[in-house]
Amino acid sequence: MTTMRAKQIRFIGYLSILSSFLAIVNAVAMLLFFGITFFSFFGFFVALLFYFTYLLNQKGYHFLAKNIILIIFNFAVLNISSTQGVGSGSILLYFPLLSLYFLLFEAVDWKWIAYWTIISASGYLVLEFSHYQILSFGKMPDVNPKFLFPFNLFLSLFGEFLIMLVFIRVNHDLEKSYITKAEELNDSLRELLLAKEKAEKAAHSRSLFLSSMSHEIRTPINSIIGFTSLLLDDNPKEEQKNFLSMIDFSSKNLLVIINDILDFNRMEAGKVEIELIPFPFNALISNIYHSMDLNAKEKNLTLQLELDNKLPHYLVGDPTRLTQILFNLLSNAIKFTNKGEILFKIQLLENLSDQVKIKFSIKDTGIGIPIDKQEIIFEHFTQVDSSISRKFGGTGLGLSIVKKLIDLFGTTISLTSKEGEGSEFTFSMSFPISQVIPKSNEHLTSQTDVELRKNKIVLVVDDNELNLKVAYQFVKKCGYECKLASNGKEALQFLETDPISLVLMDLQMPDWDGFVTTQKIREKEIYTPIVALTADVSFDISNRVKESGFVDIIFKPFQPQDLIEKIEQYTM
Ligand code: ADP
Repeated sequence: MTTMRAKQIRFIGYLSILSSFLAIVNAVAMLLFFGITFFSFFGFFVALLFYFTYLLNQKGYHFLAKNIILIIFNFAVLNISSTQGVGSGSILLYFPLLSLYFLLFEAVDWKWIAYWTIISASGYLVLEFSHYQILSFGKMPDVNPKFLFPFNLFLSLFGEFLIMLVFIRVNHDLEKSYITKAEELNDSLRELLLAKEKAEKAAHSRSLFLSSMSHEIRTPINSIIGFTSLLLDDNPKEEQKNFLSMIDFSSKNLLVIINDILDFNRMEAGKVEIELIPFPFNALISNIYHSMDLNAKEKNLTLQLELDNKLPHYLVGDPTRLTQILFNLLSNAIKFTNKGEILFKIQLLENLSDQVKIKFSIKDTGIGIPIDKQEIIFEHFTQVDSSISRKFGGTGLGLSIVKKLIDLFGTTISLTSKEGEGSEFTFSMSFPISQVIPKSNEHLTSQTDVELRKNKIVLVVDDNELNLKVAYQFVKKCGYECKLASNGKEALQFLETDPISLVLMDLQMPDWDGFVTTQKIREKEIYTPIVALTADVSFDISNRVKESGFVDIIFKPFQPQDLIEKIEQYTM
């Protein structure tokens, strides 16, 4: 594809060669007119100069070539003006010269166009007013103006004509290339728009697919986790307890995988934001440690926690995301270590009056990561080799989620590892120190709470019978009165007749879904708080719910703690 720049360069080349040719014609004529004199050879010298500009241009010194060409042209025009005297009309030659400035400086380099115009104009004026002659005919031998003038005139006009031809030709080429460029640009723009539309559609259907898939998977997992937890609380026999724990473990594992996939998608779409809330740092770390310690013990590994005792107890940050990072790194360390120990170290790096910088490191004595794989394992769906996934399981998403979260926190993660010896993942993070002590998450199911809750009725609306049963058991267990409705219409009837304190409403139901039911309830001017209970984790669900008259949202499968906390919050 010929670019505008290439055309420009071509033009400088043509111009140099053409001018060189004209200078030779002029020199030959001078020889004929004046015989062998200094002036007869001057034309050859100019021709050489033009050839030189041609070479300069070929070698890439376009700017220098352009300026030398213009010096020669200006000299030529001044020469003609001076030899032909005042009123000769040679000023007219400045017009093509001016066009040349525009063409040579691409009509955009105004500074250079202006310089050259000023040089030409002042040179011309000086000559006109001083009557100075560069080439004085009086000093030349045997001048025959009768031939010389018509010849000079013919040569200038012919030269001008040729230069104009080149000018027009190149201009035409330029215009054509402009048009092709504009058309190409339009085409690519159209293609881009189409591609964007396609990508948006694809992203939309992906998000729809994920939300319905996750809904379908989460709903049964909700029942499995819920019932398992209820059964585990119900004094099962020792053997049953083992089986139940295994069901509990597997279903939670399955949930982690689904959550990873959904989280990864949300992060890809830039929908994950870091929260800033006060949280008890030490308690969080201790919780993480204890739950991971169970996993380590199962593999006969030691998980050692080294927690700097100078760390403040309450910080401001995103405990959920921090937990997610640490869980991922610790579970990898346990997963990829067969013997030895895992060191979970938390150090205070900096303690300013209102914020701290903390270094986290997770070091194992596991299989290690080859040096050439240490970068790529942070990419999604990447594992060191396929035998790893067969042997240890996993999706290859964990570390890419960790990396994305660490990016969101505005920090970096580093890895040192040696094959066969172990790996260490480290990152540092700053947290403001919390000035308030956050409300404890410990759940109060004390006698007084149960007394207080006895008179409050919670209505659960869900078309799935199993979900209704799970929710019923939890709500009752916490001491609330519980009513069940399997569709929107039934829910409305309950609200019209019973003093309901709170509604837990599923969103996806046949006929009236959660949104429609809530709208109908509000239309009847019933303002009981309604909390959406959903397995749908699509990007915008929280916003949609808040805009549709719900007071809050709980995602299934819910942690019993969260459910009780929300019920308490809205029934106080
Ligand atoms: P997954 O663990 O689900 O395979 P990750 O993204 O968490 O996915 O990890 C990617 C790969 O990095 C793992 O499959 C494993 O090969 C390697 N890896 C991660 N952590 C460790 C570790 N602590 N020791 C050895 N290899 C590791």
